Amino acid sequence: MAKFVLIGSGLAGGVLAAYLGRRGYEVDLYERRADPREGNIVGGRSINLAISTRGIHALEQLGIADEALRNAIPMRGRMIHDKSGALHFAPYDVDPKKCINSIGRAALNTTVIEAAQRHSNVHVHFNHKCTNVDIDSAVARLETANGVLTAQGDAVIGVDGAFSAVRKLMQSEIAGFQYDESYLAHGYKELTIPPAPDGTWRMEKNALHIWPRKSFMMIALPNPDGSFTCTLFWEFEGPRSFATTKTDHDVRNFFEEEFPDAVPLMPSLVDDFRSNPTGSLVTIRCAPWFYHDKVCLVGDAAHAVVPFYGQGMNAAFEDCVVLDECFEKFPENRERAFAEYFHRRKENADALANLAIENFIEMRDKTASKTFRAKKKLDHALEAALPGTYLPLYTMVTFTRMPYTRAAKRAQIQDGLVYAGLFLIAAILVAAVLWLLAT
Ligand SMILES: Cc1cc2nc3c(=O)[nH]c(=O)nc-3n(C[C@H](O)[C@H](O)[C@H](O)COP(=O)(O)OP(=O)(O)OC[C@H]3O[C@@H](n4cnc5c(N)ncnc54)[C@H](O)[C@@H]3O)c2cc1C
Repeated sequence: MAKFVLIGSGLAGGVLAAYLGRRGYEVDLYERRADPREGNIVGGRSINLAISTRGIHALEQLGIADEALRNAIPMRGRMIHDKSGALHFAPYDVDPKKCINSIGRAALNTTVIEAAQRHSNVHVHFNHKCTNVDIDSAVARLETANGVLTAQGDAVIGVDGAFSAVRKLMQSEIAGFQYDESYLAHGYKELTIPPAPDGTWRMEKNALHIWPRKSFMMIALPNPDGSFTCTLFWEFEGPRSFATTKTDHDVRNFFEEEFPDAVPLMPSLVDDFRSNPTGSLVTIRCAPWFYHDKVCLVGDAAHAVVPFYGQGMNAAFEDCVVLDECFEKFPENRERAFAEYFHRRKENADALANLAIENFIEMRDKTASKTFRAKKKLDHALEAALPGTYLPLYTMVTFTRMPYTRAAKRAQIQDGLVYAGLFLIAAILVAAVLWLLAT
């Protein structure tokens, strides 16, 4: 059986190791960080995430969905917070059973690593940082506290996230390797709403909370311990921005002005703001994602997207499902398996990158508008009237496994038809009024 060297045991690394282990391959998984079971592994990444149909399907195939979702909190819709403190709830789907789930990153990471380790042919090595890969011989160079070692496989798979060392090596070694990275002008900072004294949630538990403020926003996802993790997405630079908010007074002023209903719930706001890092938001597109039968990229290493559709991890898990299907189809030809995986995923990853950026504008700006809420209601009415025929974009992306490209195209066609229909109805009404006035 072939041997795989996997670099990175983040969310997708553990899932992929479990899939490869199940197929009987030898797997050595190297992670630069310490074992998540020994303490804090989050290291600046989001503390909780939204997992939905695509991610859950990948876990179901491994038989670990129930275990992973045991402590997840279903979020049935968006709870919009006006500046006045008024709340508007917008369900995600006409079917109240369709929800996204807030899940802890650390717990999920542990679950997927343990699923991989149940296969005796999977070996996980923490505190091993990959610093080089010989892409022709599939040899990875790894730094540890005790020195440097090498790991030889039949193939190396980079599951090492948005700033992938494996991808950097491919970029420098493969002629014509295409690479594009683009950063948003916004960064993000995580803050906390602690539980109430009785351990319960201080806001609606089963919702994703949004404070849309046109050019920026804050969101909050519930945690099982009664707390919420808030994330402020705000401009790095500008008259009102992370750069100009320097003193505790500045922080408090900004929050009291923009998120007055949240401030009384955030006793450690100023300390959190000062001590938590400000993260950047990057979209990465590259091609190809493989080199012969020797190297391949999976997850954020191949296609990091901004987090506004809550799909980065879901798409990374879907990569693992597709790569596994390709190994099933071409058991004797790894290069064909890698090539088919790349061809099936690349255009979908590109489509998701665009959808994710568009959804930032929807979340931070449009969710506050009455027109947007009316459009959502119309979407749900059409979905209920034409079940299986009319599917809102959010539903297709989040609650189906339809390829992202197809979902985006279908939504465009549907929107065109709806707007044409509305225009026609308006034209008929105007004609009828004119006819009545004339007679
Ligand atoms: C603020 C924020 C919110 C998000 N919310 C959501 C959400 O709600 N839903 C969703 O689906 N997605 C969300 N995402 C996206 C999601 O976090 C990523 O898509 C997902 O983590 C990708 O998994 P991965 O395994 O490819 O990469 P990662 O999870 O980044 O894992 C990469 C791993 O590789 C290791 N590594 C890196 N370099 C090396 C090296 N040189 N040697 C060895 N190991 C290495 C890292 O330590 C890490 O453990 C969010 C992202 C952000 C930033």
